[in-house]
Amino acid sequence: MTITEIIEKIKGMNADVTNIVNAYPVDLLAILEALKIGCYYSENIENNADGKYCPNENNILINKNKKGKSDQIRMIIAHELGHYIHQHEGQLYKGNEVNYSVFELQQEREANDFANELLMPKEKFIEKFKEYKNSEQKDKKEIIVALANFFFVPIENVKARAYNIGLIENLFV
Ligand SMILES: [Zn+2]
Repeated sequence: MTITEIIEKIKGMNADVTNIVNAYPVDLLAILEALKIGCYYSENIENNADGKYCPNENNILINKNKKGKSDQIRMIIAHELGHYIHQHEGQLYKGNEVNYSVFELQQEREANDFANELLMPKEKFIEKFKEYKNSEQKDKKEIIVALANFFFVPIENVKARAYNIGLIENLFV
């Protein structure tokens, strides 16, 4: 899904987030508000996962141990929002201790792709990368840090995004 498709999909859910999505860093709480999705810390998410979307309550739960790690929390919320937007059935959790079936893995990938595109839209990502590189003459490490600040996401996620788009040759920046 591109960011344009995400906006259209959300419009189909009777919420217009065009202005929210086109300002950086993307205001996730405003999106949650527009979609009337609650977001809370929880001490007991199954498998000690990072986050969870609860379809019945229309809530996103964030593992309490992430408190204070705002950039990581943003990735988790965006991921869980991906499950909501894709209308994935059942309850899926994001966490390292979870064993997924092949079908679930595909849904996890969809949620991750959604999160990356929502918080770091490909076009904008490339535009900013080139701006930092060419106009500001930053080296790769500086570019990654600048992008992480601009999009307000963890450096590791910026590296992975840059690598997957083909802007860097390896993850050892
Ligand atoms: Zn997930």
